[in-house]
Amino acid sequence: MQGRIHSTDSFGSVDGPGVRFLIFTQGCAMRCRYCHNADTWSKDGGTLMTADELLDKAERYRAYWGTEGGITVSGGEPLLQIDFLLELFEKAKARGINTCIDTAGQPFREAEPFFSKFQRLCELTDLFLADIKHIDPQEHLNLTGVKNDNILAMLRYLSEIGKPVWIRHVLVPGITDSDGYLRRTRAFIETLRNVQRIEVLPYHSMGAYKWDKLGLDYTLKDIQPPTAERIQNASEILNGLK
Ligand code: SF4
Repeated sequence: MQGRIHSTDSFGSVDGPGVRFLIFTQGCAMRCRYCHNADTWSKDGGTLMTADELLDKAERYRAYWGTEGGITVSGGEPLLQIDFLLELFEKAKARGINTCIDTAGQPFREAEPFFSKFQRLCELTDLFLADIKHIDPQEHLNLTGVKNDNILAMLRYLSEIGKPVWIRHVLVPGITDSDGYLRRTRAFIETLRNVQRIEVLPYHSMGAYKWDKLGLDYTLKDIQPPTAERIQNASEILNGLK
């Protein structure tokens, strides 16, 4: 089996614990208005690679991983290639490699055939990094083009099975950065029992040039990154400190 891979990065330091080899999959069905990887959206692009090709490449950097590092599969949306992820992580575990998935959760369904595959994938995954793009259903639809009910359902399921999760939330002035939305997001997080870390990712427009290259209209061009004060405020609310 081959996966459709957008790119790799040998030394990731923020996408999971320790130093990690990052694998960015090709294809995403969401259309987040701030996406800085719009070039990963198409399901047809990228390079076809086998699990062993990727793991052989990753293991060249194994000496840098220490006790915590490993591989993180990001995207694009990794769960769109769940059959390939299963093979990749089965093989990674056979090699004793720590595994992490960075997902926005859009493909999650509590229906077959997806659900059984996801259950198996959870057994092979050490940590999920999961985005909550927007807590409000309508605002989520406006921001990403898809609904958030199944995304929140994925987080509830990961909590039920006690799978460690880091939650990430992109702070966008005028869209996600309101105390009301942040408090609703915190209220949802409080219902989960498996959250190890909550991170605020400040909005930036560094990927806007990719939209231009693809001939797409970047609709957030007038939005400035949040101030240090607002980032601190969001972090404190989401972490239940205020
Ligand atoms: S889920 Fe990620 S890759 Fe997909 S559109 Fe949103 S930010 Fe971009």
